[in-house]
Amino acid sequence: MERENPSDYDRVNNEIDEVFASKAANWSSLFQYRCADGTYKHVLDRAYVIYDNDKPVRMIGAMQDITENVRASKEIEKLSLVASHTQNSVLITDPGGNLVWLNEAFTRLTEYALQEVIGRKPGSFLQGEETDSATVARISGKLKKREAFSDEIINYSKSGKKYWIKMDVSPVFDAKGELTYFISVQNDVSQQKEFENQLTNIARELTNLIQNATVPIWGIDRNGYINEWNKAAAQLLGYSKNDVLGQKWINFLEPHIQKSVDEVLQKAYRGEPTSNRELPFLNKEGKRQILLISVSPRMNVDQNINGIICVGQDVTEVFAYRQGLEKMVEDRTRELNEALQKEKVLVEMKSKFVSIASHEFRTPLSTISFAAESIRNYFHQLSAAEIQRKLIKIEDQASHMTNLLEDILTIGKSEAGKIKVKRVSLDLEEFIGSLVEEVRSASKDKREVVFNFSCKGKMVNADDKLLRNVVVNLLTNALKFSPLAAPVIISVSDHKGNILIEVTDTGIGIDHDELESIFEPFQRASNASAVQGTGLGLSILKKAVELMNGSIHVESIVNKGSTFRVEIPMR
Ligand code: ADP
Repeated sequence: MERENPSDYDRVNNEIDEVFASKAANWSSLFQYRCADGTYKHVLDRAYVIYDNDKPVRMIGAMQDITENVRASKEIEKLSLVASHTQNSVLITDPGGNLVWLNEAFTRLTEYALQEVIGRKPGSFLQGEETDSATVARISGKLKKREAFSDEIINYSKSGKKYWIKMDVSPVFDAKGELTYFISVQNDVSQQKEFENQLTNIARELTNLIQNATVPIWGIDRNGYINEWNKAAAQLLGYSKNDVLGQKWINFLEPHIQKSVDEVLQKAYRGEPTSNRELPFLNKEGKRQILLISVSPRMNVDQNINGIICVGQDVTEVFAYRQGLEKMVEDRTRELNEALQKEKVLVEMKSKFVSIASHEFRTPLSTISFAAESIRNYFHQLSAAEIQRKLIKIEDQASHMTNLLEDILTIGKSEAGKIKVKRVSLDLEEFIGSLVEEVRSASKDKREVVFNFSCKGKMVNADDKLLRNVVVNLLTNALKFSPLAAPVIISVSDHKGNILIEVTDTGIGIDHDELESIFEPFQRASNASAVQGTGLGLSILKKAVELMNGSIHVESIVNKGSTFRVEIPMR
């Protein structure tokens, strides 16, 4: 103690007293010590205190010559005048990285005083368990390169408190360009780091949530490129995250929809979400997949829209089911409408039918009752021949009514779909020949009917009753509506694998405007009133032709004659 510089004496003594009072085991102090040659050297004195019953009895210590450090420190004290007052902790090392100076803020942060750590490498007492070794290696690499740098690292205070610092390190060169010091300004960024960590954790949790959600979720950036794609989306559409990242989202939709969907995206970029929109996607196999999606704008921390997030739901099956249902409803409605329409026509026709039919019966009935009445009233005045004539009239009218009834029954049956086609093997020439003969001999004046047959084969499979109906109707009409002297021609031939029956007369003909309607029940041409008829024959004939999958066509000129052509597939 005698050799201490008198100016240090009191301070050092006080420091030692404090150590003894607090029963601390270690003491250290900086002071000037006088050498034998009378010069002073700066020393760092560190000692271990031994107590006996709380009384200090011995100190074992070692003194280190730090004159050079102190000289440097003095020099840099000027440099660090500003640093010593700043709130940031500052430390200065020599070119070898050994600490030569630190400010109060550094002591506040690290709890280390200069005398405790002077001459040591800061890393040796600041780093600890969680300090990242890669960062340490990076920092020492940069120090070796002697260039300025910034970095972040975990440090520990003397009492073991962990904190993050951001260090800005600059090399200081002297006039000769020699490296003299490193100045490191350090900021406690623990809070910021904590905040960053929290953010990172939240972001990670959110990413996990999105990734593992059971519904497809994907993100789109401001330019329409996919930047998020969760597992459910990958599973549903078959594209992995790698397949789609950086791809235009719109390309995964069916082309026809792309334009209208772009409008949905633009809306979302303006902050307007869209919910429950059904969109047809194309999966990796090119198959259609319907997704019900909701599009919402995605905000960054500053509340600016930086993209879009889409959440979808696979509704392909529901969509197909719904479409099926809609189609079914549509079909059923159409069928119902058709049935209703048919029913309406049928009802109309039936009432028309009943009124016309009753009218048609009235004429023969009144003829019959008139003839019968006059026979009853004038039985004794009338000659046998006159009575005979009236009886024949009655018979004629009765047979007309029978025909009428039969026709009506046939129409009724065909309307009700009760007529079935029954094919039998027929010799066509013989069959039609016999019908021609039957009609001819039934005609009043035994009219002339020319029969031409030019089919290659004679045998056909046909429904004889329907065929008979066709031939007899055509021939009787032709005879009925043509003059007595004129012959009627019936020709039967092959035509494109069908049988063609043509019946031609040179009679009164049919007005062009009435050609369609004569095939309707009870419809008669305006020039036919002088000729007896029911207007049912052609409509029955048309039904018969249709039942045999055939067709009928008529050509006619008024007062010149008519040709009816029936074509029937037979073989
Ligand atoms: P109907 O002969 O009992 O009057 P149809 O149904 O057989 O009834 O014929 C309908 C109408 O078609 C006839 O009333 C007639 O006006 C016209 N018609 C049919 N065949 C001929 C024909 N060969 N020549 C002129 N008119 C015809």
